[in-house]
Amino acid sequence: MSALQAVQGTKRPRPDLGHRVDSDVVDSSHGVILYLEEITVSFDGFRALNALTLYIDAGELRCIIGPNGAGKTTLMDVITGKTRPDSGTAFFGQTLDLTRMSEPEIARAGIGRKFQKPTVFEQHTVFENLELAMKADKRVRRTLFASLSGEDRDRIAETLAMVRLTSEAHRPAGLLSHGQKQWLEIGMLLMQEPKLLLLDEPVAGMTDEETERTAELISSLAGSRSLVVVEHDMAFIAKLGGKVTVLHEGSVLAEGTLDAVQADPRVIEVYLGR
Ligand code: ADP
Ligand code: MG
Repeated sequence: MSALQAVQGTKRPRPDLGHRVDSDVVDSSHGVILYLEEITVSFDGFRALNALTLYIDAGELRCIIGPNGAGKTTLMDVITGKTRPDSGTAFFGQTLDLTRMSEPEIARAGIGRKFQKPTVFEQHTVFENLELAMKADKRVRRTLFASLSGEDRDRIAETLAMVRLTSEAHRPAGLLSHGQKQWLEIGMLLMQEPKLLLLDEPVAGMTDEETERTAELISSLAGSRSLVVVEHDMAFIAKLGGKVTVLHEGSVLAEGTLDAVQADPRVIEVYLGR
């Protein structure tokens, strides 16, 4: 299938259940975790998103590329409830209408977002940062000063290993390299057990080696959760190997493998050929 055919592919309407299940647990039983259909966002008449339709499968790793101003950040703002669409529908799984949920409700339902700049607590150790992130999880009643259970310690240890910071556990976060701080922040998000993780330019400012290790890390996270990665670094996207969506002027221009979208003449014209 060509990238173009992929874009024009059939809609995947969310089955109408006839009744709304009031639950803050995401239902991805139909294999799709995120449904965005015909989303339009206007700023003073300018359409930052223009009838955008996008589906993310449960466990999928999706890369979003596109020139500056294409609407990538606005897309993440819509998913996390920071920006309300003027029209269109946005569902997290089968039942959760993102356009009717507040930002904290969306976060609690399992959508985590990492911004470009790492925001770790520099004076605290790496371990403590993960501990604080776990205790900030509003779904679970915990007090900041309660001691950790063995189970909590195991979860922190698992996350440290996942983000490759086991040997740094007791160093203050302020002493980590830029790349390590980014991994720590991903670890802090993982402590909240998101079902969908949004990463905005995760390798900006990283060394080549850190970029390589970040690609391994992100690839290892897909499967048990879904990831949407916005990035400009094509070598990095090639390493991730997921399906690529190209945004242009607020709409999906092409979708498919990186090779397929890179070969699409329209993509070359608006983006890659410049
Ligand atoms: P990208 O992240 O792909 O570079 P953005 O989503 O940040 O693109 O922006 C898409 C377009 O919408 C840009 O032209 C930008 O100037 C505009 N835009 C984004 N946010 C606002 C806002 N709050 N007010 C006005 N225009 C905005
Ligand atoms: Mg942006």
